[in-house]
Amino acid sequence: MHGTGVSGGIAIGRAQLASHALLEVAHYSIPANKIRNEKSRFDRAIKSVSKELKNLKKQITSDIPEAEFEVFVNLHRMILEDSTVSEAPKNIIESMGCNAEWALKVQLDHLLEQFSKIENTYLRQREADVRQVAERILKALLGRPGDSPTKNIEENTIIVAHDLSPTDVVLFKQHKFAGFITDLGGATSHTTIVARSLNIPSVVALHQARTLIRENEIIIVDGTAGLIIVDPDEVILSEYEVLQKQWLLGQQKLKRLRRNRATTIDGADIELNANIELPEDVASAKENGATGVGLFRTEFLFLNRGDLPSEDEQFEAYRQVVRNMKSSCITIRTFDLGADKQPEGYTRVAPNPALGQRAIRLCLAEPQLFHQQLRAILRASNYGKIRILIPMLSNVHEIDQALHLIAEAKESLDIGGIAYDRKIEIGGMIEVPAAALSIKAFLKKLDFISIGTNDLIQYTLAIDRTDDAVAHLYDPMHPAILHLLSHIISAANRANKSVAVCGEIAGDPLITRLLLGMGLRTFSMHPAHLLTVKQKILTSDLREATAITKKILRAQHPDRIEYLVRKLNAKF
Ligand code: PEP
Ligand code: MG
Repeated sequence: MHGTGVSGGIAIGRAQLASHALLEVAHYSIPANKIRNEKSRFDRAIKSVSKELKNLKKQITSDIPEAEFEVFVNLHRMILEDSTVSEAPKNIIESMGCNAEWALKVQLDHLLEQFSKIENTYLRQREADVRQVAERILKALLGRPGDSPTKNIEENTIIVAHDLSPTDVVLFKQHKFAGFITDLGGATSHTTIVARSLNIPSVVALHQARTLIRENEIIIVDGTAGLIIVDPDEVILSEYEVLQKQWLLGQQKLKRLRRNRATTIDGADIELNANIELPEDVASAKENGATGVGLFRTEFLFLNRGDLPSEDEQFEAYRQVVRNMKSSCITIRTFDLGADKQPEGYTRVAPNPALGQRAIRLCLAEPQLFHQQLRAILRASNYGKIRILIPMLSNVHEIDQALHLIAEAKESLDIGGIAYDRKIEIGGMIEVPAAALSIKAFLKKLDFISIGTNDLIQYTLAIDRTDDAVAHLYDPMHPAILHLLSHIISAANRANKSVAVCGEIAGDPLITRLLLGMGLRTFSMHPAHLLTVKQKILTSDLREATAITKKILRAQHPDRIEYLVRKLNAKF
């Protein structure tokens, strides 16, 4: 199956169908003579879950008090034993002639509808328990009991999901899966970006994977080609095992470049920074020789939790990063919440989230929240070199307002006698076409800029980053994009202001020389790509890159652009 490759490399493992499973169960017909078997299969699943719940009782180790845990387990056993759960689906198997999973789903939908009509809040809240029990039964039907996988199993597991939110993927950072694949997702959706930072081979936008793949099937994930192979024969399997070894060997070799400076053949020094989502990501930034942090996506501190991080908690996170990166510069982007990154509780459904109250717009609408973050960043600036980066600016008034709020935060620290870097630089993300076209005015007010090509491409080409149906239209080589990039970079260089690219294209070695040719000298990308891009820079000649890039910028037709980019990359 073909999709969009997220991170390079090859993973081989067994499929584990990810949760939200109840929404995605397969539906197929059962012939009349097999109905009895199907009903017994359902009975066996109920028995297995019952055993599982009994065993749960035996190994009370969690922090839930024993009495509360007992109540929870007993409640789940009662739900399991209730005829609406343990018997009704068998009648559905019989009447509809369908598989047990589907019958369970039909019955669950029916039960959940009843729940929605209950006025008593306590009873209505039991809906979640019914759902959890149904999930356990479903997993048992699919041959996977509810226990969490052990590490060994994880390392051979390919997670198969219909869709994953950026929040889901952040949780994966605690695991060590071999790879993952999803039906939905675009090349630069935040889910994909976080996935890339996990540095495990993954493919998104496969459309039908979750429905067609069965639990435990062997899967080859070729993250470079954006391809997966389900249930391969032995010849294909051994071929990919060889390719996998070669790829790992290549990665090992790249590690040798870690301490080398990123210098072109003709002697230009290039700065290669890391994009991080969480303070823990500093480890891989250092491992891959990052010069500094070019983009800290702080909104991830706000996700996967029921409350908001306090000023002190944020301060600790920022200080941890700046201390761990020693003397390097850390660019902290103020939170880019909204659109596909909503903290719990802020679930306003906007008619068009990407065009709605996101990033700086949300900060200006919630100045108290912004103030807290600004104080936390400023306080951390006393412990190392920090810069503040404002996302999604679209007009100069927003810059004025943001600068005003930063001045207010500084003032409040002055009053409290709290130290901070008084010369802290303030920069802006250029990721809305309006900002790109007004770049001169922006540069007058900002100390530095960073180009967010993921959004710049989304907003210029009018393609939703999260929508797999338009993922094929994502095109960094579109003449409009190339012109905007060249326009921004030249303007910043002329104004003598530092400019970086921190969107996903910064980590694409096929685009490195083009950006060099436009005059870019600072790149920021996921740590996993740093060494590949460094290798490309070490073999690049700036004069040649500049000459061919000029021709590319004059070209009108995509085919001509493609030809010239190939020529640009042909050497070495
Ligand atoms: C971008 O838009 O290119 C960017 C770097 O920011 P994000 O991907 O977090 O929107
Ligand atoms: Mg962006």
